[in-house]
Amino acid sequence: MTAAERQPTAPPASAVLTALLQAADQEVPAAVALRRELHATPELGGHETRTASRVAAALGEPGAPSVTTGRLVRIGAASGPSVAIRAELDALPVTEQTPVAWASRNGASHACGHDVHLAALTVAGRAVRRVGGPLPLVAVLQPREESYPSGAQDMVGSPQLEAQDIRAMVGVHVHPDIARGQVSVGPGPVNAAYDEVTITVRGRGGHAAYPHETRDPVLAAAHVILALQHLISRRTDPMHSAVLTIGTVQAGTAANVIPEQVVLTGSLRTFEPADRASLWSAVSATAGATAEAYECTAQASFARGEPVLNNDPALATATAACLAQAGLHVVEPLRSCGSDDFAYYCARYPSLMMFAGVGQPGTPDGPGLHHPAFLPPEGAVGEVARAMLAGYVAACSAGLPGAAAQAHRDATDRMRIAPDGGGRGPH
Ligand SMILES: [Zn+2]
Repeated sequence: MTAAERQPTAPPASAVLTALLQAADQEVPAAVALRRELHATPELGGHETRTASRVAAALGEPGAPSVTTGRLVRIGAASGPSVAIRAELDALPVTEQTPVAWASRNGASHACGHDVHLAALTVAGRAVRRVGGPLPLVAVLQPREESYPSGAQDMVGSPQLEAQDIRAMVGVHVHPDIARGQVSVGPGPVNAAYDEVTITVRGRGGHAAYPHETRDPVLAAAHVILALQHLISRRTDPMHSAVLTIGTVQAGTAANVIPEQVVLTGSLRTFEPADRASLWSAVSATAGATAEAYECTAQASFARGEPVLNNDPALATATAACLAQAGLHVVEPLRSCGSDDFAYYCARYPSLMMFAGVGQPGTPDGPGLHHPAFLPPEGAVGEVARAMLAGYVAACSAGLPGAAAQAHRDATDRMRIAPDGGGRGPH
């Protein structure tokens, strides 16, 4: 065996990806300008019509069909199998604190980087329109990622999306914990299932100087919060990731009054369906029994949010090879108890969510996602577009034929739990 023969064989470069990347480079300057425009004029969830129109126009189809406040732009043959890329339209109700001239002044802000995703998707879409691709590309301009009810559920349940014959769905989210030029493309579960819980603790109010004549729900609620902590540490297999956070406590109106009730809200994040079910009942039982010890009552109600975000392993592997060709470095998979409504697509189609690094060297404590000063650099537009194109080309050739995709749909249909209105799942 010669030295040359012992060299590891690099995967063959995809000619179509090379052509798409070259075309994409031509589109980046206009997309960076579009990103500034979208960033300066953000719209909140449920109100993204102008943003959606602007991006649909940039993708070459201003009259693209609507799904609630979202749009679907199909590029390529009008029928037959396709690959979809999702980008989120909505901003957050966060007052921006960045120094750029194109900062938002309307009280909302793209503090989650969705402006970058949208601009990057115009790069990818215009590149496919310019040089063609193995399959049509469907740009899914999704509303309400950050607010209730989930815009992904609108899309997944819509006849308009079903008509696209989608074989795979790709998403990319910027992430400040990953360095620029690096991408996480983990197979399997990368984000948790998300539910919201509301616990109402009721007692008997009265004068603060006469607590013996009341049943103080504030004290009972304090013990409920403490008691709930044992559900993760003592009742959940330590090898299973789960987290329960009580985020709000609403009680009382005056320092010298014992109120009638306290309302707690919290978020429950799990990866195992069995943990999700058992923790719902354990939260109810623990809250009720603890309140009862103080002669109060507690009732828990739940709003079901996103399922686990499960990346298709074959798609992840195929995309990793294409990312290298796109000049991006694959890093250890980022997995977290964050959540994203992209998970609804995963439950319907073979899907892949990548995390693209926007972390700046030397600023490990820089602003994170949803922070008023979070501002991915402009170079992220081209990098996210390259990651999207890598995922698109991989999905076109990853051996996800119609039969396999249909089998995936059938399997996930069987696992599906009927949505009951849905909770919220910000990252
Ligand atoms: Zn986001």
